[in-house]
Amino acid sequence: MSIKIIPREQLEQQNTVIRQIPLLFYPSPKTLYIHRAERLKTLARNNSLSDYLNFCAKIVEQQAILIKKPIDISPSLNNDFPPLSLENLPLNDIWQDYLLTLLNSFSNTTYQIQSVIEQLKQNDSNQLQEKARNLLNGKFNLVDGNESIFIWSALSVYYCQLASQIKGKAVAENTNESWLCPVCNSMPAASIIQLGANNGLRYLHCSLCESEWYVPRVKCTCCDNMQDIQYFSLDKELAAIKTECCDACHSYLKILDQDKDPHIEIIADDIASLILDIKTEEEGFAKSGLNPFVFAQ
Ligand SMILES: [Zn+2]
Ligand SMILES: [Zn+2]
Repeated sequence: MSIKIIPREQLEQQNTVIRQIPLLFYPSPKTLYIHRAERLKTLARNNSLSDYLNFCAKIVEQQAILIKKPIDISPSLNNDFPPLSLENLPLNDIWQDYLLTLLNSFSNTTYQIQSVIEQLKQNDSNQLQEKARNLLNGKFNLVDGNESIFIWSALSVYYCQLASQIKGKAVAENTNESWLCPVCNSMPAASIIQLGANNGLRYLHCSLCESEWYVPRVKCTCCDNMQDIQYFSLDKELAAIKTECCDACHSYLKILDQDKDPHIEIIADDIASLILDIKTEEEGFAKSGLNPFVFAQ
C-alpha cells in the first residue's frame, strides 16, 4: 500500500472508499518545534551527548520563531508526484531567508560552529540552491555534513509550513512503495506509535516536512518484507525505543512508542538514542532513514 494525496473534490467525484484509519497527518508547525526544543533540553540533562542536544535545541527554538508567516504557494495536487516533491514544485529561494536568520541567531557559540556559519555565509544564492537541491535529491555526500544541518533545518521550516497548508486528502493505492513521504518524497526519520490514539498504529515521520504516514507494523519500511523482522533495544524487552531490523535488505529504522513513554519526541529521542544506532550497525544493519541533525558521519 502506498499513499497518494488528491484534492477533496476529486475524492467526492470518484466515490473513493475512505479507509477508517487515518492515513496521513500533516504537521502542526506552531507546536511541533516548541515541543521538540523542550524535549531536547530535557534529554540533554542526562545524556552523554548533552552539548549536542543543547545545540540542536537552539536551532529548533529558531525554527519555532521562523514559522510565523504563511507561505503564499499552493502546489498542484493533480499529477503523479507528491505535492511538495521537486518534480511537482521546483525549489524557490524563500528558504534562504530562513537560513540567514538562523545563522545570524547564533552568537557566543563555539569556534567550530562559528566557522561553519562563516563558511555558509560565503555561499552565494546559486551555490546555496545547488547544495539544497543535492540534499533534497539524497546526494548527502556532496554537501559538508555540518553545513547540511543548517541548510536542512531552514528547508525543513519551509516544507513543514507548506505541508501544513495542503488541503488535499490522502488515499491508499495498491502499490508497495510506502517508505518515502507521500507529501514531499523525502526519507523518513523513524517510525512512531502515537500516544493513546489509533490503537497502536504505526506511522513513519518525514525527515523534511514532518508529515506522518501510515505503515503497518512488523514490516520492513524499506523493502516491504514481513518475515524475520527483529528488534534491538538498549535495555528491557518492553523498551520504548527499538530498532526494527530486516534480514532481507539488512536495513533498520527506529520505532518509538509513545504508549510506553508519552514524552517521546521522534527527532529529539532519535538523536539522544544514537548509541542504539551504533549497536545496531555493529550487528550488520544500515539505517534506512535520516535524522536531520545527524548528517556528519
Ligand atoms: Zn515529507
Ligand atoms: Zn527490508
